[in-house]
Amino acid sequence: MDIRLDEIWEKAKEFLAHELSAISFNSWIAPLKPVSTRDGILTFQAPNRLVKENADTYRKQMEAALTGVIPIKFTVRIEAPDTQGSPVSYPSARPSLESDLLDNGSEFNSNYTFENFVVGDSNRVAYAACTSVVKPNGGPQFNPVFIYGGSGLGKTHLMHAIGNHSQDNTPDRHVLYVTCEYFFNEFIRVAINQRRYDEFRAKYRNCDILLIDDIQFMEGKDQMQIEFFNTFNTLYEAGNSIVITCDKPPQRLYELEERLRTRFASGLIVDIKSPDYETRVAILENLAKQNGSIIGFDVIDYIASNIVSNIRELEGAFSTVLAYGILTGSITLDIAKEALKGIIHPAAKKTTSSEIIIEVVARYYNVSLEEMRSSNRSREVAEPRQIAMYLCKTITDDTYVYIGQILGNRDHTTIRHGYQKIKKEIDNANTDLISHIEDIKKRISAR
Ligand code: ADP
Ligand code: MG
Repeated sequence: MDIRLDEIWEKAKEFLAHELSAISFNSWIAPLKPVSTRDGILTFQAPNRLVKENADTYRKQMEAALTGVIPIKFTVRIEAPDTQGSPVSYPSARPSLESDLLDNGSEFNSNYTFENFVVGDSNRVAYAACTSVVKPNGGPQFNPVFIYGGSGLGKTHLMHAIGNHSQDNTPDRHVLYVTCEYFFNEFIRVAINQRRYDEFRAKYRNCDILLIDDIQFMEGKDQMQIEFFNTFNTLYEAGNSIVITCDKPPQRLYELEERLRTRFASGLIVDIKSPDYETRVAILENLAKQNGSIIGFDVIDYIASNIVSNIRELEGAFSTVLAYGILTGSITLDIAKEALKGIIHPAAKKTTSSEIIIEVVARYYNVSLEEMRSSNRSREVAEPRQIAMYLCKTITDDTYVYIGQILGNRDHTTIRHGYQKIKKEIDNANTDLISHIEDIKKRISAR
């Protein structure tokens, strides 16, 4: 391999290490090896498909970092062992400037199905909206469906799920998935440069479902907006479905023509949020099942309690722990902590401890610490104990397992149950309880 290429990549990695979170960087960027450069395409080798698929989502950042090292415009391409030499298997990964042919089909990532999508409060509506698109009968219930939310929360997964489901159940329906960037590159290359506008137009206007991912890419690109506006109207008037994803709601797409913003907002707008604890646990359990690995709940709880905002990072943490487990022969909580140190710094975030919280709650309700830890289940003791469980879980990064240990060696499921019970009361606006909890919180922060 060209030595200079290696050097350039080392420098670019320094930029990326600053720009990305430690876990994304370590999981998806660090394992990549630059292997060749030709015609402005810099090819990287990823050790496996999981790394490839996730690294693909950082190609833009990689390209920018490389340009920061040497002023040449690279297109990054990432290969995994099983994709080498064969067509890359789904469109978001397809290097857009490579092929000269306009192909009319989409292939979908077979892992991104509705079945593999864990549904929780954070994504339930988005999931329902996407399943409504694949209903076999009648025209679209909502059109367009506009899904927005931060990176790594499952937007692309849901789009591929629509594609996979349709291919399996309604193969006559033509579903087209493209990233907005792909649409743009094809528009420039085929419609503008090669003057094959009719072909381009036919491709995007003759589909039953158009899935267009990361529409924010369209901001500030006027010509493309005009083209997409026309495509949108043709599909819409023919009763064909359009599903759009974005990193923000339509009204915050400031550099988009007003008429497009209005169109986007005219159907169903749903957001997809960071997953709650329960969903994070379910996703990790699902990953463990898919990988055929046996991982204790303490490890799952540790990861789910500490990686909170992004599912791509959750998967990254999981695969790091798995790799450590394979190397050391077992996956224990200590191994997981070792694997994720440098990523998870629980001590830094903590302003108080579960021990202090339990003490404050006990004093507030005039219950002794012994009683808090005891098996006494009378209401006067059980309720303060559950409130302590709730507060320990929401205020600190401690795991259910740990909170169980310091609350009289209780099982983690008991702590989880206590937490959920209080959370439900709060969600149901139990105003007495809410005001007590506010008082207790004030006392905790005064400690
Ligand atoms: P986005 O497009 O919103 O940036 P992705 O769809 O690429 O996010 O999701 C990132 C990763 O997280 C993918 O590997 C995806 O399969 C996984 N993922 C996201 N949401 C879920 C979920 N609810 N259940 C299971 N996996 C999920
Ligand atoms: Mg995406």
